[in-house]
Amino acid sequence: MATPIGIKKRVVIVGGGIAGSVLAYNLQHHADVYLIDPKEYFEIAWASLRCMVEPSFAERSLINHREYVKNATVITAYAVGVTPNEVRTNQGRGVPFDYLVIATGHDDRTAFTKTEKISRYRMEQNKIKSANSILIVGGGPVGVELAGEIAVDFPGKKITLVHRGGRLLEFVGEKVSNKTLKWLRKKNVEVVLGDSVTNLNSSTNGVYKTSGGRSIRADIHFLCIGKPLASSWLKESVLRDRLDERGRLKVDANLRVERCRNIFAIGDITDIPEMKQGYLAQMHAGVVEKNIKSMIAGKEKLDAYKTGMQMAIVSLGRSEAVAQISGVTMIGCIPGKMKSEDLYVGKTRKTLGLRS
Ligand SMILES: Cc1cc2nc3c(=O)[nH]c(=O)nc-3n(C[C@H](O)[C@H](O)[C@H](O)COP(=O)(O)OP(=O)(O)OC[C@H]3O[C@@H](n4cnc5c(N)ncnc54)[C@H](O)[C@@H]3O)c2cc1C
Repeated sequence: MATPIGIKKRVVIVGGGIAGSVLAYNLQHHADVYLIDPKEYFEIAWASLRCMVEPSFAERSLINHREYVKNATVITAYAVGVTPNEVRTNQGRGVPFDYLVIATGHDDRTAFTKTEKISRYRMEQNKIKSANSILIVGGGPVGVELAGEIAVDFPGKKITLVHRGGRLLEFVGEKVSNKTLKWLRKKNVEVVLGDSVTNLNSSTNGVYKTSGGRSIRADIHFLCIGKPLASSWLKESVLRDRLDERGRLKVDANLRVERCRNIFAIGDITDIPEMKQGYLAQMHAGVVEKNIKSMIAGKEKLDAYKTGMQMAIVSLGRSEAVAQISGVTMIGCIPGKMKSEDLYVGKTRKTLGLRS
């Protein structure tokens, strides 16, 4: 049935990470927008490791959804299912849609309010401050960025990083891994590759054992293995057969979920063969914004997503970073200038119409 004139189309966006938040902000004056997220706030994910050594940094990197989507409805809940015309939440509510955008990226169940999250960061900072030795498990971007933050802010701490894989930062090239390893070792971080900790939650007297037979003494540990994809809520839904074997949603060139007319997916949850990066998630949001506006206007032709430049910058403390930009690698203050000082927090806030 055609929508009566004057009544806006309803767009439901599930997931308030960078992809869903930017889209909700940009569509709020063009449609009746509903943003569903279990957390009251959007977190600039790539600033989270800085918050562990400097909790006040989170005042700017955690943004309550209601601060930037004043013209949309925020529903603080988990989406638990989807039918052809509504999303079900864990509060038993059905949220009908004309257009649905799935942007659930990764699962993060650590804290539901900004206050709660900041106090968690304070606890973590206190833990770091009071420890002499720290074990970091995982050598992906989370483990490496955390090691860098602690090594730079607390140079007296003994840090050991254990990584199961044969090299650090396996999502980028080997040159980046080697440069990162050298940088960490220069900062006195002990890096153990090709080994894994076997008694993470049952260490005795601060001694951790590894499968390779090592004993590592540490006062505290951080498990930095990345968060799982948040697509399990779709496994019993009408979209269950649009998930690939890794739990990612299969999308077409217009970023519509395969064989769906009015359901889109954006951000890390998609099966687009590219690096999973926030700046690319924002590009997805831009394409879907245009496509929903076109569909509302009754236009047939939709925009196709073309993957952007493949770029990864991993910060190493406050002023340095390691980068791979279109196949070129570099380390030090130049990539550091691009990311490490403010971690794009000011830029991201401006994208959401807020003061930097
Ligand atoms: C250490 C680190 C450094 C990084 N550095 C950079 C960088 O420098 N530049 C860059 O571009 N990218 C960087 N990234 C990658 C970037 O963080 C991700 O690509 C980006 O956050 C993905 O955004 P998203 O919106 O798709 O998903 P997410 O950020 O994972 O957000 C998903 C949202 O969905 C919500 N959600 C989950 N399940 C449900 C549900 N059932 N119902 C409702 N809501 C739900 C979650 O609460 C969350 O708010 C970095 C990542 C890490 C880990």
